[in-house]
Amino acid sequence: MAEYLKPLPIPSPESEPFWAGARDHKLKIQKCRACAGTWFPPATICAHCGSRDHDWIEATGEGKIHSFVTYHRIYHKGWEGELPYVIAIIELAEGARMLGNIVGIEAEEVVCDMPVAVLFDDVTPEFTIPKFQPA
Ligand SMILES: [Zn+2]
Repeated sequence: MAEYLKPLPIPSPESEPFWAGARDHKLKIQKCRACAGTWFPPATICAHCGSRDHDWIEATGEGKIHSFVTYHRIYHKGWEGELPYVIAIIELAEGARMLGNIVGIEAEEVVCDMPVAVLFDDVTPEFTIPKFQPA
């Protein structure tokens, strides 16, 4: 495996289940037991109703691009040679919105509402980064 030069996640107690799921190639999000809402990033309180009662569920990994940004400048040397690249807000089928790197398509071909599906990039033995590609 080539040396990974991009920043690595720093899991918190709240986000550790997400990163453990990613290692197993599962996209985990939280679902409220009180209102059935889903949310991301991980938090101890429901983003919809404030309940602290939730489960971790495995999302389908399917969704659509809600919005996106195309980067034409390098802000971190880890991205050298990868311009332009796209970071999007993906609205998952379960409703939660998640930031992710869009891969497998030319940056200029990315559009809003494009159906996407998760893929798992094992960047180090400890970390897997969920990314999204056209479905
Ligand atoms: Zn709720």
